[in-house]
Amino acid sequence: MRTSIATVSLSGSLTEKLTAASRAGFDGVEIFENDLLASPLTPEEIRARCADLGLSIDLYQPMRDIEAVPEAEFARNLRRARHKFELMRRLGTDTVLVCSSVSPLAEDDDALAAAQLSQLADLAQEFGVRVAYEALAWGRHVSTYDHAWRIVETADHPALGTCLDSFHILSRGSDPKGIEEIPGEKIFFLQLADAPLLAMDVLQWSRHYRCFPGQGGFDVAGLVRHVLSAGYDGPLSLEIFNDVFRQAEAGPTAVDAHRSLLVLQETVGVARLPAPVVPTGIAFAELVTSDAEPVTALLGALGFARTARHRSKPVDLWQQGEARVLVNTGPAVRRDGTALAAIGLESPDPEGAARRAEALLAPVLPRRRAPEDAPLEAVAAPDGTELFFCSKDTPELPGWRADFTDTTGQLPAGTGVRRIDHLALTQPWHHFDEATLFHRSVLGLHAQESVDVADPYGLLRSRAVTTPDGSVRIALSVGAAPTEDGAPAQHIALATEDVVTAARRFRDSGGRLLRMPANYYDDLAARFAFTEGELETYQDLGILYDRDAGGEFRHCYTRTVGRVFFELVQRDGDYRGYGAQNAPVRLAVQHTAKALTGG
Ligand code: MG
Ligand code: MG
Repeated sequence: MRTSIATVSLSGSLTEKLTAASRAGFDGVEIFENDLLASPLTPEEIRARCADLGLSIDLYQPMRDIEAVPEAEFARNLRRARHKFELMRRLGTDTVLVCSSVSPLAEDDDALAAAQLSQLADLAQEFGVRVAYEALAWGRHVSTYDHAWRIVETADHPALGTCLDSFHILSRGSDPKGIEEIPGEKIFFLQLADAPLLAMDVLQWSRHYRCFPGQGGFDVAGLVRHVLSAGYDGPLSLEIFNDVFRQAEAGPTAVDAHRSLLVLQETVGVARLPAPVVPTGIAFAELVTSDAEPVTALLGALGFARTARHRSKPVDLWQQGEARVLVNTGPAVRRDGTALAAIGLESPDPEGAARRAEALLAPVLPRRRAPEDAPLEAVAAPDGTELFFCSKDTPELPGWRADFTDTTGQLPAGTGVRRIDHLALTQPWHHFDEATLFHRSVLGLHAQESVDVADPYGLLRSRAVTTPDGSVRIALSVGAAPTEDGAPAQHIALATEDVVTAARRFRDSGGRLLRMPANYYDDLAARFAFTEGELETYQDLGILYDRDAGGEFRHCYTRTVGRVFFELVQRDGDYRGYGAQNAPVRLAVQHTAKALTGG
């Protein structure tokens, strides 16, 4: 289906918005009146610009407070409308959005509304324009889609139809099934928006919190199915009022927006994309660093051994159990000290995974490997993290590991680390919802509940995306950053079956664990029953404790190097979380530690 986006959904000048929409692959735009008013371009120039960019102008919007008003007022409205229809002819667009009136002058009189809309449609017809009448959820007398449709039906004018907006319908809890009663050709336009489920005034909710389909809590796909059943064949158009998107760069927002419509079309069965290839494990986490010593000292104390070196690049493989960390000191290194730059995902079909990522507009990264190296498919996540799709490395079918030459020497005893439990990536604040949708749609991961965590200097929002079996867990968050340079923190959580032993061995090897305040342990003692001496051991080692319906969680933290720190975790039973309950204390300690080290 054709895709469109309202210019109000993107930041910047009208020209910037149009360019971003075109680059992201949209077929058309809705021109929001304020964007036109503020533009130095004439309507003819806007029309030409859109044509150059391959964009149709699908809608001009909005016209407000038109109908069900006293005669003198309506005469003024018609005069205003004539002016706008002239403008639309210059713009080369044939559909105008008329929102249900919020004016105190409007009367609760459907017959009058129908008669005046019919008169408006008469005038529109002279200019080759169609009027799409939409019920605003906060309209004075008309606030539901079925009410707006009844008025359109009464008016029975060929140039008058209805515009459906998923936000106005779903925010009011209307049953979208009734849409199927509307003849498809009378649905002149379809605007789509999702929103988080919030208990608030519907106008404020709409103006500030709309988001792209799949990012909120509405069943937008379900609504679209009803609209398609009715026979609608116009564009799927996004109309998103969102405080964050208004400030974020238009280019990435437009890509995010278009991805949401691709996923939506796949969901409702009108588009086929390469099937998701769910990763089966974490092959490696890759750190880039300008100064390898602090991070390799940390890895050494954690019981990792340098087991191999890349044959053509300054990249070392550090390994313990199935946990693999690459340390890259090559020229591709960024300036922000040590950072988690790439994740290797084990995939049953790396090429298929890359094809899906590409179809969903993930930037495909140029191969940064030598010609003789194993081919690695890689794409960039919204936060810039590189995602490599790797086949599982086996002796019969060597993958990425074949590019590494084993180093010889005695392996250390280790600390009992088995694998990477999860990776935690702090997202740029304006990319959080995008990151979740990206990981869900591109990688086929499931999103867990979003949790808010108090931080001494802000609020941390966190949401994990995982495979059903937990073999891949990525915790996405947005919020304060207790790192030396203020860059978003990242961490690698290592799974062990005995965190007490792991923590002791780490400390015996010269590692330092963050110590938690005595008040925290006093509170633990009040909340849970521990065996004799257990809590003292935790306090001594800096181990935090949590429990949910499924099981128990024990975890502790190293200090931060650059942007990165490590966590040792012991999951028992079917514990699904990440110790969010403990995060406020941990964050406070990290802020203090940062202050103590003068960072
Ligand atoms: Mg709308
Ligand atoms: Mg964690």
